[in-house]
Amino acid sequence: MRKNILIIGAGVTGAIVARELAVNGYHVTVFDKRQHTAGNCYTKTDPQTGILVHEYGPHIFHTDNTTVWNYVNEFADFAPYICQVKATTQGKVFSLPINLLTINQFFNKTFSPQEAKDFIESISEPIEPVKSFEDQALRFLGRDLYEAFFRGYPLKQWGMDPSLLPASILKRLPVRFNYNDNYFNHQYQGIPREGYTTMVDRILAHENITVHLNRDFNAAEEHGFDHVFYTGPLDSWFQHRAGRLGYRTLRFERSHHAGDFQGCAVMSYPEEKVPFTRITEHKYFTPWKNFENTVIFHEYSSYCGKDDDPYYPIRLVEEEKVISNYVEMADQEKGVTFMGRLATYRYMDMDVAIAEALQAAGEFIKLDKQAQNIPVFFNRPI
Ligand SMILES: Cc1cc2nc3c(=O)[nH]c(=O)nc-3n(C[C@H](O)[C@H](O)[C@H](O)COP(=O)(O)OP(=O)(O)OC[C@H]3O[C@@H](n4cnc5c(N)ncnc54)[C@H](O)[C@@H]3O)c2cc1C
Repeated sequence: MRKNILIIGAGVTGAIVARELAVNGYHVTVFDKRQHTAGNCYTKTDPQTGILVHEYGPHIFHTDNTTVWNYVNEFADFAPYICQVKATTQGKVFSLPINLLTINQFFNKTFSPQEAKDFIESISEPIEPVKSFEDQALRFLGRDLYEAFFRGYPLKQWGMDPSLLPASILKRLPVRFNYNDNYFNHQYQGIPREGYTTMVDRILAHENITVHLNRDFNAAEEHGFDHVFYTGPLDSWFQHRAGRLGYRTLRFERSHHAGDFQGCAVMSYPEEKVPFTRITEHKYFTPWKNFENTVIFHEYSSYCGKDDDPYYPIRLVEEEKVISNYVEMADQEKGVTFMGRLATYRYMDMDVAIAEALQAAGEFIKLDKQAQNIPVFFNRPI
């Protein structure tokens, strides 16, 4: 008899597990509490301008994983796209991450790569021992670049003073001594021409998959299914019995403008005095199309309250304690697997979420055939 599987969440993780099981003969039911598929990768046409908008923040697909790249290309036509971020600070616009152009413009110089390296070394502060993010940034970059590009960012994005954040966050020198302004270093990079929602809907389009939107998971509905894959927040599964896992949330303030607004997709604002972290101008994600007007998002970050959408897991020491309690509780569960960015309380790019979903679905099918136990986590939160 065909087995019935319930998948909670129609983001990339849930959709791919659903697809892989469906093509292997399982009956799959997918619930999502939102009114749309694609989770946080959701894209939608803005009715006022006709521009495809990344509703939960800018998403660029980038990966070194050829299997993942080939997989997504089966379901979407990817346009080549290079993510080039700019930053406005101290009244000027620079290239980000800091590269040779940034250094030359910032210090009003014409350094060669070696001259720039020597210069940055000469202005770096010899702090010992390095205890915090602030110490590390000053040791790598010196005070001027730190103040302009790094000091305000943790305050705004994480609500944390850089002197209180661990040095481990900044492991390597965050500077390029060339003019490369490609934000990512991956082999494959692109944006689906018709958006991520169309891609996810194609993944879900299979006769063995039934999708129910606006359907919040209710523990009672778990019965009657042979196995559940849960991609919602880990603490919600347990009704927050061990406390709340800390998240940062984002708020997007949408506005429409005539013509062009900023001339690029993403402009970062690292200074503390500017309340938002960046401005996204969505028409630049489809540069092959022309639009008369434009739609932008001002992005604000804050602590995630109980009615907010969780975006970035905080994972400081307090969260590590709470998460280990939830992992212990999850290990006692039967018939459920926790997956994806929310149920494993990790930041994951789309390619990582997809790779893990493909791996988990493959393992599940193998173990199920051998009538073996299915793990609660294929990828553990800690
Ligand atoms: C601001 C931002 C920018 C990003 N940019 C990039 C980028 O440029 N490139 C990149 O590769 N990645 C990016 N990411 C990461 C990307 O968003 C994730 O990799 C991806 O969303 C993970 O998919 P998921 O299915 O695991 O989770 P989600 O997309 O969060 O999907 C989980 C789904 O579960 C549903 N759900 C939760 N609880 C329940 C419940 N109780 N009942 C029913 N449904 C439920 C939710 O509604 C949601 O639809 C970005 C993330 C953020 C926050």
